[in-house]
Amino acid sequence: MTEQSGPSTQQIVEKVWLSIAERRLRPGVQLKEEQLATIFNVSRARIRQALTVLERDGLVTIIPNRGAFICKPSVEEARDVFFVRRTVERCVIERLCVSVSKPNLRRLRDHVAQERIANAQDITTDIIKLSGGFHLLLAETVGSDFLFTTMRDLISRSSLITAVYRNTNRFNCGPDEHAEIVEAIANNDAVKATHLMAHHLDHVESELDLSEIRDLSHDLRAALS
Ligand SMILES: [Zn+2]
Repeated sequence: MTEQSGPSTQQIVEKVWLSIAERRLRPGVQLKEEQLATIFNVSRARIRQALTVLERDGLVTIIPNRGAFICKPSVEEARDVFFVRRTVERCVIERLCVSVSKPNLRRLRDHVAQERIANAQDITTDIIKLSGGFHLLLAETVGSDFLFTTMRDLISRSSLITAVYRNTNRFNCGPDEHAEIVEAIANNDAVKATHLMAHHLDHVESELDLSEIRDLSHDLRAALS
């Protein structure tokens, strides 16, 4: 096998990410290099690269001489992540209300339209990706690498927290609330837009049950298939 065959590092990262977001991979589960290399039909070197990215994104902990494990966020960490999101996303919204460009507004509206299509067709993987993606796109359109990188980290951690603590099987931030936020930004109404975002994050956090760890699959192959 050559290094070029099989899925790319990013594809492996996305597959693991989605399996976590869809609650098929449980926090605490060990990601064994050899087993993953067999499942994805790639070299162990590529698996190691993917694990390094997952560690950077806060989804995996690598313990020397023991291996890589899906992180297990505590209730305190879950609350902290949402606390930071409120602060960062408020800043993102305030800036957008001052400076959003027409092309970026179009991108935001197009994104919400994609979310509506995914919802109508009930495509879980798209719904999960697009829901988090909306918040990332807001940060991206501000044009600050730091805010974007910070949000990417926060969204990854939020996905893991949602996977562990979510009350229901739905993963949908909700295109309706996203659409309202976009229209408030379009009207340069920072008061309304920041209020809507705060309400939206309250709503997302309220759907978490921050009192118990859910029982999810231990089976790597079944979770990644
Ligand atoms: Zn949302």
